[in-house]
Amino acid sequence: IYILGIETSCDETAASIVKNGREIISNVVASQIESHKRFGGVVPEIASRHHVEQITIVIEEALSRANMEPHQLDAVAVTEGPGLVGALLIGVNAAKAFAFAHGLPLVGVHHIAGHIYANRLEQEMEFPLLALVISGGHTELIYMEEHGSFEVIGETRDDAAGEAYDKVARTLNLPYPGGPHIDRLAHQSDGAIDFPRVWLEEGSYDFSFSGLKSSVLNYMHNAKQRGEAVPPEHVAAGFQNSVVEVVTAKALRAAEQYKVNQVIAAGGVAANKGLRTSLSAAFEKKGIPFFIPSLPLCTDNAAMIAAAGTVMFENGITGNMAMNGRPGMALTSWK
Ligand code: ATP
Ligand code: MG
Ligand code: FE
Repeated sequence: IYILGIETSCDETAASIVKNGREIISNVVASQIESHKRFGGVVPEIASRHHVEQITIVIEEALSRANMEPHQLDAVAVTEGPGLVGALLIGVNAAKAFAFAHGLPLVGVHHIAGHIYANRLEQEMEFPLLALVISGGHTELIYMEEHGSFEVIGETRDDAAGEAYDKVARTLNLPYPGGPHIDRLAHQSDGAIDFPRVWLEEGSYDFSFSGLKSSVLNYMHNAKQRGEAVPPEHVAAGFQNSVVEVVTAKALRAAEQYKVNQVIAAGGVAANKGLRTSLSAAFEKKGIPFFIPSLPLCTDNAAMIAAAGTVMFENGITGNMAMNGRPGMALTSWK
């Protein structure tokens, strides 16, 4: 089965062809980071405009790098939601037009299901599994009994981890997106400020990062009032220690309570070196198989959408020409 995946939910215009849900034939990602940098974040209007300009080029590039013709495809999978409405619409309409023109079935994929299925492009999924999705807009622990079954057992009550990274980075005058810069500074640091760990109620798998973000901002503000210079790497290291400790502990406790056979991580913040090291060490110690995809598959791409779309297609879950972008789409099970 060959599936064309299309992803335009945020600031990456992406198309990819995946074979049997596991093998990447081509994977094209046009990033808009340079255009959004000077605004310190993604500007929705600019994002939509770039998607319109890039989408046809990116789809054609995915086909030509795969050396394939549209009639060799079995279906088109596209991110239906969640995301920026104007951005989603470009991908959904491109997918509908392509599917209609070439008589192909259309599959609407949830962006987070995509992040999870990125793993399958590098390693087979073993159920029951626990997925830690940690990205710019989400921080969730998801239990999966089998393919297409998603039970969200914990999620952030305010900021996503990536959002907190980007906001803290901004107060340190680091460029957007700030996650990788904080990660780098944290590793260069010879000290760390002690910021709070937010655990919430006993037994909760939910997360909260806005309190941590505020304590970083307050700390910086108070130091400035006193005329003290704060080494930015100490702030970065302190912030990262807090995020990594809480995320690792909650993921570990969930994996043990739900007795899973595998834990996988996904999303842009899963690219974080400190987090990768901490999670790997924690799960290795407990003997629980743990896997994180390589960096380009952690951040937004269309191969992950094709990978999830393939399993949906195999289970007969297809959409139709009434499909629309769904900015607030919930992650529901396929069967
Ligand atoms: P979502 O998938 O929730 O809709 P998104 O697609 O915008 O959000 P991703 O592209 O998966 O999010 O991830 C982007 C986020 O990852 C940004 O917040 C960025 O700062 C963060 N990030 C990337 N690399 C690192 C890193 N090494 N350490 C920490 N954060 C990182
Ligand atoms: Mg992105
Ligand atoms: Fe994403």
